[in-house]
This record gives sequence, C-alpha cells and structure tokens, in this order.
Amino acid sequence: MSFPARMAQALEARRAAAGWRQRRLVTHNDTRTLEVEGKSYRHFSSNDYLGLSQHPAVIAGWRQGAPGAGASGHVTGYSRCHAELESQLADWLGYSRALLFISGFAANQAVVHLLAQKQDRLIADRLAHASLLDAASHTPAELRRFHHNNVDSLTQRLASSCSGETLVITEGIFSMDGDSAPLAAIAAATRRADGWLLVDDAHGIGVVGEQGRGSCWQQDVRPDLLVVTFGKAFGVSGAALLCDDATADYFLQFSRHLIYSTAMPPAQASALLAALGEIQRGDALRQRLQDNIQRFRTGAAGLPWSLMPSASAIQPLIVGENGAALALSQRLAQAGCWVSAIRPPTVPPGTARLRITLTAAHRPDDIDALLEALHDAAGE
Ligand code: PMP
Repeated sequence: MSFPARMAQALEARRAAAGWRQRRLVTHNDTRTLEVEGKSYRHFSSNDYLGLSQHPAVIAGWRQGAPGAGASGHVTGYSRCHAELESQLADWLGYSRALLFISGFAANQAVVHLLAQKQDRLIADRLAHASLLDAASHTPAELRRFHHNNVDSLTQRLASSCSGETLVITEGIFSMDGDSAPLAAIAAATRRADGWLLVDDAHGIGVVGEQGRGSCWQQDVRPDLLVVTFGKAFGVSGAALLCDDATADYFLQFSRHLIYSTAMPPAQASALLAALGEIQRGDALRQRLQDNIQRFRTGAAGLPWSLMPSASAIQPLIVGENGAALALSQRLAQAGCWVSAIRPPTVPPGTARLRITLTAAHRPDDIDALLEALHDAAGE
C-alpha cells in the first residue's frame, strides 16, 4: 500500500473509533486555569503538580541563562549551570552521578537502547510508558511484560532462563492509572535474579518522599537506574538519569542521544536549578496537593464511574467507551472544567477515561466545582 493510502486508511480508522486526537490552541495565564480558544476553564489536565511552571523564581532562573547551548554537551554545550544541576540532583537523590537529557522520552530511549543487547532480556510492567515500551521493543533483546504491579508475575518472568543480562523496567507512579509500584518487592525480586532495575519516576519526583525526592526515596529503594523528568512537578521540561560513576561514563562515551543532540538550553538548566530549590523547600505545596487529592476523593465517592485506587495527583475516572469519555469531557467543559479524555491506544481498549490531575495550585472551590459538575453529569 502506498504511503498516502496507508495514511488515509489509518486516519479513517481512528475517526471511526472516536479516537481522533484534537490539538487545541491554549493560553496559560496562570497555573490553575487554562484558556482554550478564548474561554477560561478550571484546569484539571496539567502535570504541573506543584504549580511551579509560572513560579517567579523559576522564571527568574530562566532569564539567567542563554536560550541555546549551541552544540552537544560533548562539543561546547556543557556549561556551569548544567554541571551545577547535575551535581545538585545527584547529591539530593543519593547517587554518584546525574546526566541531563532533553526530555523524559529521550532519556528512556537512551537508557534502554544503550544497555539492551542480543542475549539480554527486558522485563517491563505492561503499563510502562510508551517511551520505555517502544524503546524496549526496538532493541535486539527479548521483551517480556509482567502484569501491572504484580510481583508474582514479575517473579515468574524472571524464573525463565536467560544467557545475558536482565533489566526490569517500571515506574514510580503510573501516568495513566496514578497508582504506585511496589518498588521494594520489585527491587528484591530483581536482585534475586541478578538483574538491574530501571525506575521512571516522572510522576513521583518532587511530589512524594522527604523533600520531594520521589517514589524510590519514599519506599526506601535505590534502583540501579533512576530516570526523573522535569515536565511535571518541576514545571519545566527535560530529564535526568541518576546512576553510578561507571554507568555515567559509559553513557557519556556511547549514548548517541547525548553525543549527537544539542544540550539542554542553559536557560532551562538554570530554571531547573530554581525549581529544584522550590521543590526542596516545598512541603507546604505538597501538603496543599495532598489536601486537594483528599478533598476530591472524598467528594467523588458515589460517582457511577470507577475511580482508580490512586493516592497520587492523577485521579482517573474510568468511563469505558471512547464516545462516552469524550461526551463526559465535553459536559465538564460546559461547566467550566477542563479534563481531557484519554483513549486507546494510550490506555487499554475499553478503559477510556478522564485523567483528572490535581495540583497544589487548585483552590478548594475548584475541586468543588469539578465535583458538582461530575455529580450533575451522573444524574443526567
Ligand atoms: N515517562 C513517563 C512515565 C511519562 O508520563 C512521560 C510523559 N508523559 C515521559 C516519561 C516522557 O517525558 P517527557 O514529557 O519529558 O518527554
């Protein structure tokens, strides 16, 4: 089939399945509201969990750096603010080294691609993020998935023989379900099989654990490889890999994602240093977020859609069919609340959902307005 015919067929199938993804023109005026096509909504679809994306200190940090690094870190793109950020991240999270990446997607691809060779096996939670599963399925290693957060299923996969190395892959807090991985049990099973553990804590870093150090710190686990991303609680974008000295040296010598890609803008590294300071001092923000989560969960009891057992900022309501999820999202928009519907293939078939995210920036009346709109929609 020709490229145009193939594209036309895929687009038609997506339309027919009510799966069309609509990009909208938005304006971010503040962190708790969203302006979409000229109308302002209470915003429940942001990963800016602590409301730092427009924090004055982060904006001031951004203004202190150059907008472009001008080259890859290996040529002339590695400046003092990159070095300072790496060093502070490593100290804060208890690792020897941190390496910066331009995005979480790039970091996950880099880690999985560089480590996995032919005889190896990758054992990933079946709900791991697309950046991890895509990378894993494109290496010469064998990819096996275990049932979500199920340590018995992982142990079973680990029991099969393997002549190479084993890398177990999971997340701290899952992006579409909001639940936490049982990291201590996963780490113990991985260690018993002589494997390495990679944890992507995109949604835990900054939000949970002492000083916001994330899910691993909270569960007293130190994975061999920890990926943290900066597009969520840090309010900016980018990512870092935390690891030991030898691993960092290996990545610096051989990771094509680092060698052949322009380094993070110095302005971004400088903004991230400011965001890191706010996160370390952010107990009040984390408490406000927890209060908002509690307020939402208490008020959502009795709704006809199933609320995932999530203690995190991600509070998905499972609706089921694509069309029904879209209709509920539109109904909430009419009531002034912006909540995106998430549909397959991002989530498993039949589990289209509203991915409600709460942040420290929400006021109690924002949560109450969302709950009222949900209860009204349920009653119709
Ligand atoms: N990992 C997880 C768990 C994510 O949810 C995301 C983004 N939604 C990423 C990685 C990708 O990070 P980034 O947006 O920085 O590319």
